[in-house]
Amino acid sequence: MALRVLALDLERTLISDALRVDPRPDLAEFLAFCHERFARVALFTTVEEPDAREAIAELIRRECVPRELAERLEYVSWCGEYKDLTFVPGVAPEEVLLVDDDAGWIRADQRDRWVAITPWDGGPDEELLRVRRVLTERLEAEG
Ligand SMILES: [Mg+2]
Repeated sequence: MALRVLALDLERTLISDALRVDPRPDLAEFLAFCHERFARVALFTTVEEPDAREAIAELIRRECVPRELAERLEYVSWCGEYKDLTFVPGVAPEEVLLVDDDAGWIRADQRDRWVAITPWDGGPDEELLRVRRVLTERLEAEG
């Protein structure tokens, strides 16, 4: 099945945390890549939607991320022990990839849908560049 949705964790993956909202290096370029290559891009995070939206709004205010990229981000509503990809509306789990720094949220039977990223809390970092390469390979392999 073709890849249609890219789900992104928020804290330690795209930003430091929802209080400080420090953007990970290369964040704007990463989001531009995601929107260009995936039909849909969604936040899949333990941060509640109003706080996640506020963090994104803060990134726009600080001009870390262009408004048109940030506002196209969907938000996955979910509950439970795992970031179960069946919570992503309108697609099968096989059509989704999830970028997340924490293996603990990944369902054992969905580990092949997971793209791991090193947790980030500030400082120089090239993980978003590396993950772009991983996603490009997955897109080439799975369409
Ligand atoms: Mg995280």
